[in-house]
Amino acid sequence: MPVDQVIISYMRSRNWINVLLLRSMNLFQPVLVESPSEKIEVSANGFSWSEQNLEYRILVNEFFEIVTKTDDGEVPYSFVEMQGNNLVFGLALRRIKHRVMDQRTCDVEQSDLLLRINPFTPCCLHCSNCANLVMEQRQFHRIQEVAMTTMQPQNYFCARNRVPVYPTEEELFFGLNYLVISPDLLGIGVTTTPGNHLIECSRCKQCVGEYLGRDVAVQLYADALRLVSGDSPFGFEEIFGHVTPTQLMMRLLHDAEPISPEKTRLFLKAVRPDGQLQYLHLQVDTKQVHILRSELLDTSDLDRKSHGLDAPPMEADTSSESDFEMRLSDTSSSSINQPTGDDSMDPLDSSLPKPKAAGPQKSVQYIQLRGFRGCRLKYLFSGEDQDLIENEDITTTWLDEGTQVLRISYGMMVDLMGELNANEHLAAALEKVSPPIKSRHPRLSYLIYEADEDFYARQEQITKLAG
Ligand SMILES: [Zn+2]
Repeated sequence: MPVDQVIISYMRSRNWINVLLLRSMNLFQPVLVESPSEKIEVSANGFSWSEQNLEYRILVNEFFEIVTKTDDGEVPYSFVEMQGNNLVFGLALRRIKHRVMDQRTCDVEQSDLLLRINPFTPCCLHCSNCANLVMEQRQFHRIQEVAMTTMQPQNYFCARNRVPVYPTEEELFFGLNYLVISPDLLGIGVTTTPGNHLIECSRCKQCVGEYLGRDVAVQLYADALRLVSGDSPFGFEEIFGHVTPTQLMMRLLHDAEPISPEKTRLFLKAVRPDGQLQYLHLQVDTKQVHILRSELLDTSDLDRKSHGLDAPPMEADTSSESDFEMRLSDTSSSSINQPTGDDSMDPLDSSLPKPKAAGPQKSVQYIQLRGFRGCRLKYLFSGEDQDLIENEDITTTWLDEGTQVLRISYGMMVDLMGELNANEHLAAALEKVSPPIKSRHPRLSYLIYEADEDFYARQEQITKLAG
């Protein structure tokens, strides 16, 4: 089974890494009984995984020095666990190169929201369901994002200890998934429910926004509306450009409610196009996770060239150990203890396992690692009425405790859930907890921060694979 990806989670405080080798079935090979020659070898500068005629070498010497012998000269004990096709094991660290770790970690900045309404360009807003006119054509002279660090407009427009902000008819404010305008701009296509502040489409009764404070301003939900502007006179379009799950999370976390020094809470809501209400309860660790993820190089041939080296033939394992037997072996002790002198060790450093005898030619694939940050969280998703009923207790508790409900678009909810679902097996494997099952309990997952271009490249690849 080829290794698809190597994922390392790193615990700074514990001088420890957990390693996960994600492997897939090779569909082009007949399914054989697991080869007994599968083997993990660990040295101070990395580890290797070999199976059949392929060896993967993962060098971590840029970031860490791995403990291969304790102070007493013992080989440190570590479990290797098989989880489905995947392998998990932990390694103790002698040294962490924090500066390099930070340099080689992808740092994602919060980017601007792409608003499709431009100053001085006439535009109008329609209900996304039935195209009813919500705001008649007009142009805004001043378009401004509500303070960068908050998404909740009531804090800005009706702050308790500040003079309220009244948007004039020429002013438009915006934030994640909403617009704020003057109540005078609402057209005849909306009605207000008596007794509450909600604004509905007069035709299809979809809720499109709400009044803020004592009706000083109107907050409109961008996902409940479509835009027709001078720039696109031929059709309805979304008011905002796409926001990636990383950018979404970074913005939402400004509004997370602290519940302890270690944890914050987010209560998200979305409305599916058919009207189905969805809730997502998130409990997010305040401390970020740090993950190293592999970028697999294409071919071992290319790789050999780039290293200017030819992979040496490796020993054919002739041991008679049974299937699934792993050996977390120390490498030849003489080479491990050799002082290397500097940090920039040769990729084929002498401390990596050496061939002891000529055997069948093995190809060697080097795996490069790149750092990512992200958040670790527990989530509880209610996608249907049945889930909403089952999770009513937590909803009531959170509301009673004053947690704000933040409305995101259905598309954002789909993207976010996609990431959480995709990463929950990874999180379970790395943390050695049981794999996720359908249950009413919150589920553990990670959201790994990535640059927009990486997200879109990954989506494209998924689409290609699916097609
Ligand atoms: Zn409508």
